[in-house]
Amino acid sequence: MSDRPVVTRIAPSPTGYMHIGTARTALFNWLYAKHVGGKFLLRIEDTDRERSTEPAVQAIFDGLNWLGLTPDEEPVFQFSRADRHRAVVQEMLARGSAYRCYMTPDELAHERETARAEGRVIRSPWRDRGEGNYDADQPYVVRLRAATEGETLIADQVKGDVTFQNKDLDDLILLRTDGSPTYNLAVVVDDHDMGVTHVIRGDDHLNNAARQTQIYQGMGWDVPVWAHLPMINGPDGKKLSKRHGAQAVSEFDDMGYLPEAMRNYLAKLGWGHGDDEIFGDEQAQAWFDIKDVVGAPARLDWAKLAHVNNHYIREAEIDRLVGLVTRILKSRDWPLHDGDEAILQRTIPLVRDGAKTTLELADNVVFALKRRPLELPEKAIGMLNDETRGRLARLAAVYANVTDWSVPVLEETNRKFAESEGVGLGKIGPALRAVLSGGSPAPDLAGALVSLGKPESLARIDDALSRAA
Ligand code: GLU
Repeated sequence: MSDRPVVTRIAPSPTGYMHIGTARTALFNWLYAKHVGGKFLLRIEDTDRERSTEPAVQAIFDGLNWLGLTPDEEPVFQFSRADRHRAVVQEMLARGSAYRCYMTPDELAHERETARAEGRVIRSPWRDRGEGNYDADQPYVVRLRAATEGETLIADQVKGDVTFQNKDLDDLILLRTDGSPTYNLAVVVDDHDMGVTHVIRGDDHLNNAARQTQIYQGMGWDVPVWAHLPMINGPDGKKLSKRHGAQAVSEFDDMGYLPEAMRNYLAKLGWGHGDDEIFGDEQAQAWFDIKDVVGAPARLDWAKLAHVNNHYIREAEIDRLVGLVTRILKSRDWPLHDGDEAILQRTIPLVRDGAKTTLELADNVVFALKRRPLELPEKAIGMLNDETRGRLARLAAVYANVTDWSVPVLEETNRKFAESEGVGLGKIGPALRAVLSGGSPAPDLAGALVSLGKPESLARIDDALSRAA
């Protein structure tokens, strides 16, 4: 099998939102495929017609798209392949690796009881009875004729060797009485037909790997390489749930995390490259090997995610951040005006260093987008005594003559002004900041002045000075 080109896949069931664990599984499949120059595919496991929904399918597409984990081929929809699944079962019947089982519900219930009492798995009498001896109209299921002795070995790339005693595995149903294929059958047929060489998925499927191996063997097909990934738990080590903050990929988007930060951070959940915290896709693809994934559950660590996200916010193109912040402001019904884009262009570079998420980035720019006259917080109004007003007026006169409205020039201007007044900057700074920002988060004085631009800065100071004392 080693000479087959590597093909990995994710096979989510579209029954809800896209879980962050599915995203991490997708990432590892994608990284491994890229690492070896193979392909990464997507299969939508929509055979459960009652639970599968169109919005859930869309959530998978959107989640992968947002994360930048693009499959290399069109997605495969499992339900549409039911005829092929049935055809494979016919072939297994012909090969003798499957048989029709005509046990009635009563017989099955009785066998179940006996098996439980005898401490064994159920066995169908039809396994060795051969066909005949039955009424052709009677309903039947098709079962796998699995080995009853020996063991099935799963040489798992993450978990190590896991052996299953064949006597503990019953003859799996492949087709139900209504002719519908069962889950394990569909997975095997699809993975085989898609040329999947490496099945990398959550470790809740480890037991299925033994069942699925037997189906591969029943068809004489190559068994894929298995790699079962441990869960992502919450920070407290318990199963990730609502109370930990987020589970769905879309929630991480909504919370202001960047997709490249998610890729970087998720790669660290169960895998890593030494102590490296920050690495891009190229490095991850070059370094990643499925064998290096650790078997113990990973824990979501919000502080680490914030740290990684802040790094990518500081690296991002300003235009992109302007777009993201605009989207957030719109979602908050913030009234945007012509000219605001230019303000964002100027402000974002001055405030992004402190932002852990794009939501915080949006919080940090609103001071610059406010419309005059600003509402001032009580505290700021209290600061505007005669002395401060006098100083602000003299400072405004100095600003009026500044031609190069830039951070270094304004810093110098402020310093010199304080000197000429014979006071520390601390005497003017807080009031000026409040007057410029209306009490919202804002960068240092010079940064706030540059964000606003000269005319707006002077106008905001003027507004404050003309307030009735
Ligand atoms: N459809 C399964 C799930 O969503 C995954 C099956 C697989 O990866 O083999 O858990």
